[in-house]
Amino acid sequence: MHDNSIIELNQEAYLHNLAFLKKSFNKKTILSSVVKGNAYGHGIEEFVSMAYKCGVTHFSVFDVAEAQLIQQLFPRQVTIMIMGFVSNKALEWVILNDIEFYVFEKKRLETAIKLSKKLKKKAIIHLEVETGMNRTGFEQKELNPLIDLLKKEENHIEFKGLCTHYAGAESMENFFRVKSQIERFEKIYAYFCIKNFKPKIRHSACSAASMMFPETQMDMVRIGIMQYGLWPSPEVFASFITTQKKKIDPLKRVISWKSQVMSLKKVKAFEFIGYGTSYMAKENMKIAIIPIGYSHGYSRMLSNKGRVLISQHRCMVVGTVNMNMIVVDVSEIPNVRIGEEVILIGRQENLDVTVASFSENSNQLNYELLTRISKSIPRKIKI
Ligand SMILES: *Cc1c(COP(=O)(O)O)cnc(C)c1O
Repeated sequence: MHDNSIIELNQEAYLHNLAFLKKSFNKKTILSSVVKGNAYGHGIEEFVSMAYKCGVTHFSVFDVAEAQLIQQLFPRQVTIMIMGFVSNKALEWVILNDIEFYVFEKKRLETAIKLSKKLKKKAIIHLEVETGMNRTGFEQKELNPLIDLLKKEENHIEFKGLCTHYAGAESMENFFRVKSQIERFEKIYAYFCIKNFKPKIRHSACSAASMMFPETQMDMVRIGIMQYGLWPSPEVFASFITTQKKKIDPLKRVISWKSQVMSLKKVKAFEFIGYGTSYMAKENMKIAIIPIGYSHGYSRMLSNKGRVLISQHRCMVVGTVNMNMIVVDVSEIPNVRIGEEVILIGRQENLDVTVASFSENSNQLNYELLTRISKSIPRKIKI
């Protein structure tokens, strides 16, 4: 763990987001907190601890390593669902620990049945069906033999969920594609009903779908980005806010990222700053060097573009983002000192650096930039 910078998670903001999300869903709808990608860069262990304290008891992850981290924190106190990869080697641990997992391959189901018999313990599965995203999920024509197999092995497999995922609910250009996925999912569910083989729950919605297509909320919603206080896209925010009397963003950013001034220097007019010639001082300048770079997840895209906050001033990144350092222009700040706080994401008085500005104003990149924030940065929960 280094101490070049620190990430703070704001519990009050999280509670605020949870309250808004719960209000948006049916009382009976389970909220599963999606914490893959190191909880979208927030730090999975710290984030899950905070979420649990705030009453969340269902977590969705991508793989077994993430499930293990949560299981160690809260053994059998929460429900953990793996939406992605489970190796054959790890499947035994998964079944023994009551970890729920997606099944989208017949092979995996057969292995699960075999292991469940050996361990004398039921495997708890969520059947993922293909509705048009064309990624993972069983095809319609595979369903009949699948249902037969599941019925036959009822003592070894618990059919907990039927699920699917939408191909871009955050953008109106995908409206018809998503609509047709919703219809197909309804038909598949109806087919399971006719076969007298109902799942315990049905789920399909991510953040965007839950907002744009409320009919997708069903028995459970899998909420990632919005619980962290960010909208899946500007479109989803716009479509929400236009329906509201009070034009206030109901979400609050949970993360902030802080560093400090490591060194200060004066630079003469017409000198270049940093590697190469991407930045030339137009006049005499004062610069601050911050011990954060692309190896910590501060994107190179922010070379000559990023902004940080120091002493309630917005300061430009000058020159390229280095592996471990950035240089910022502090010419405007009279008494800047070494060790002074630097906000990379977050608030200082009435100034703010958003995650979106951090990702060149394209919210699409929120996800990617957040998950790139290095795991080695310490995380702290601010209550
Ligand atoms: C990541 C993911 C989600 C959550 O998506 P958000 O847009 O962050 O809410 C839901 N379902 C699946 C299958 C996912 O992979």
